[in-house]
Amino acid sequence: MDECRCGRPAVYHGSGGRLTCGDHLSEWLRSQVFAELKKFIKSSDSLAVAASGGKDSTALLEMVHDWNCERNNPLPLKAILIDEGITGYREFTRKFLEKFCEFHDIPLTVVTFRESLGSNLDSIMKRRKDSQVSSCTICGAFRRYLLNRVAREAGATKLLLAHNLDDEVQTLLMNLFTGNVGQAGRKGELSETPDDLFVPRFKPLIRVPEKALTIHGLLHYPSLPDRECPYLRESLRYEMRLMANEYETLHPGFKLKLINTYLRDILPALQKTPPKSGGNLQKCECCGEPASQLICKTCQLRQTLGLKAPDA
Ligand code: SF4
Ligand SMILES: [Zn+2]
Ligand SMILES: [Zn+2]
Repeated sequence: MDECRCGRPAVYHGSGGRLTCGDHLSEWLRSQVFAELKKFIKSSDSLAVAASGGKDSTALLEMVHDWNCERNNPLPLKAILIDEGITGYREFTRKFLEKFCEFHDIPLTVVTFRESLGSNLDSIMKRRKDSQVSSCTICGAFRRYLLNRVAREAGATKLLLAHNLDDEVQTLLMNLFTGNVGQAGRKGELSETPDDLFVPRFKPLIRVPEKALTIHGLLHYPSLPDRECPYLRESLRYEMRLMANEYETLHPGFKLKLINTYLRDILPALQKTPPKSGGNLQKCECCGEPASQLICKTCQLRQTLGLKAPDA
């Protein structure tokens, strides 16, 4: 049986040949997250973690909370959950997160699609009619919009997202496949703009493989609901996920190499010379929120789907 350096059975096999037991996996995850926090968080920051009650954001929230508690002057920290209204899925992760936040004494704000848009995602999907727009496009656009507004109104100066290495690889491939290089130019560990309305987004898990977080989640959060979003498999992201996983099997380390090359070489070039495909942020003519086009994606979708203006 494969062993960790401490002699215990290995539960995680990293792409670089690293074999770790559960404790050393957690230690490694914490060291990765703590190093990112140390690098990007300022003592004047106020933190909001976008939490869903899933394995990734729960691990991030717990590590940020622990890191913060170890500080001489802990920073304001809160969690934000956007409840899209996905039956059989979100109600379970929401319940888990509510208990988790109560136990750790972390203030939690819950915002629902139903209250903010007048309709939950399940109803929107039934009413979508002939529109070709996918569930994840709708869900992602509204969630980003609401997260930014809620975090800003809570006074947060950094919005922490639990996007892991696999998420980032999928996003990068999706942006390239759909010719959306402008979007790719705004990604990175820390996305900042001079616009006061946009809360800088920070992704401390950007180099952490999903597999590591899955094993960590299984070992540390046994009551975490083991459910998949019912809309996941109809998304382009899912196709990219299958493709990236296949490449990772054929060429171990492919995902990390891709993201490292992107962050080191491609992103700085894109940021220096913003591409024509929506690289700059402006104010949406409709709602006044940050947008990469005259009308933001949320307002475009809202009009197509006949929804009311979001109020956070
Ligand atoms: S898989 Fe798609 S629909 Fe489901 S929560 Fe994620 S973005 Fe939303
Ligand atoms: Zn060990
Ligand atoms: Zn708008």
